Amino acid sequence: MKARSKDTTKKLNSSLASRISSIYTKMFVTWLAISLVAIFLFVLGVTAYSIYYESKPSLEAIDRQSSLEGLIDKVNSMNEAGVVLSGSQGEILASSFRYDDLEPLIFDYFNIRVINSRLYFLYKRQLTVENIVLGLIVYNDITVLIFETIVIGALAILLFGVSTLTIHLRGSYLTRKAFGVLDELTEKANNISSQNLNLRLNVNDSTDELIEIALTFNRMMDRIEKAYEKQNQFVSDASHELRTPISVIQGYARMLDRWGKEDKEILQESIQAIKKESENMQDLVDKLLFIARNDKDTLVLVKNRFSMSELVEELVRETILLETGHKIESHVEPEIMLHGDRDRIKQALRIFVDNAIKYTEPGQTITIWLNVEDDYAVVTVRDTGIGIPEEHLPNIFDRFFRVDSSRERDKGGHGLGLSIARIIVLRHGGRIKVASKPGEGTRFKIYFPVE
Ligand code: ADP
Repeated sequence: MKARSKDTTKKLNSSLASRISSIYTKMFVTWLAISLVAIFLFVLGVTAYSIYYESKPSLEAIDRQSSLEGLIDKVNSMNEAGVVLSGSQGEILASSFRYDDLEPLIFDYFNIRVINSRLYFLYKRQLTVENIVLGLIVYNDITVLIFETIVIGALAILLFGVSTLTIHLRGSYLTRKAFGVLDELTEKANNISSQNLNLRLNVNDSTDELIEIALTFNRMMDRIEKAYEKQNQFVSDASHELRTPISVIQGYARMLDRWGKEDKEILQESIQAIKKESENMQDLVDKLLFIARNDKDTLVLVKNRFSMSELVEELVRETILLETGHKIESHVEPEIMLHGDRDRIKQALRIFVDNAIKYTEPGQTITIWLNVEDDYAVVTVRDTGIGIPEEHLPNIFDRFFRVDSSRERDKGGHGLGLSIARIIVLRHGGRIKVASKPGEGTRFKIYFPVE
């Protein structure tokens, strides 16, 4: 099966440019052949007609004779055409054809003879003069005509051969140059695998018309390569994130094994640590599953009409209950209704509020606002915490991104919160704006379209 598909590939590879070239060559050859045959027939026709035209006046003069004697005289005295007048038995009565060895000719319509190294086309007409049936044989010298025909034919064949060869060679060169990118594209597309996603087409070799195909292919490969790298990065980051809690749990398990059976303090510490790390792992796995579901497009949102004002008030109440030591200020415009997945929206808002708490010293203020701006319900979460350096702002929604990974791991972050929040907001047709200054604080504005 594999060998067969390789065969087909080879066939395709070799054929695309050459097939186009051979179509053009065939078209040209057919056209040339028709033209040459037409020219040949035309020349032949013109020559034949001129021969006939030369003897025409003489034959008309003969036709005008009404007596046998006059006819014989006329034929004998003619210089222009080779004409022989024969009797009913084929005997020669008169002749303008100046050749001594003329033999009586008996044939019905036409004949071809070589006389004195020249070729003649003979044709016979019947005349009736004074009630005697006579034969008038016209001798047309076709030596030159045949010679001309042979020369023109040979030239035509030569011209045909040279043109066909030229068009074939030049045509296949130009076609290969013009359409070579398609062959390259077929070949490269067939060779693409995860190992060589850096394959690109040589754009400089393409013609203007095909440059767009080459560029589109290259842009597609750029996207695939980027997505693949991102996926690989995601898998390696996820494994890396899971390694830390696993090593911690393993460490405590070993400690328990050695001293934990006797030492109550070690036992208690290990149980606490294992519980914390397994919760941490659970949290990470949940987040990973959420992102994977979104990537696979199997994330289902249960959308309903609900009061966004109530949801934000609930969020504010829960934040106050956490008693983190921060001052919580809020302002919630009433009766703002939204259509969406209430639980998911709450999950997203929780991420912004949790971050504000995480990255702001206790005693500082966290503000939670809800208002309406131009058909959007806008939730503002503002803190007066550590802030985010400007150069990191474009990255904070990337998966596993943390401004300072060593410090933030202590705070329990995996760098997945904002990517999850963004997924939820985007899936509701919303958007997020962020403004931050290190040392002064951060403000996130989250926009959801109202009904
Ligand atoms: P994490 O779970 O580590 O908090 P997030 O995706 O929620 O991950 O946030 C990404 C990074 O953005 C954080 O690690 C932190 O560096 C930065 N960040 C997010 N919110 C804030 C904030 N309110 N103040 C300061 N830095 C923040």
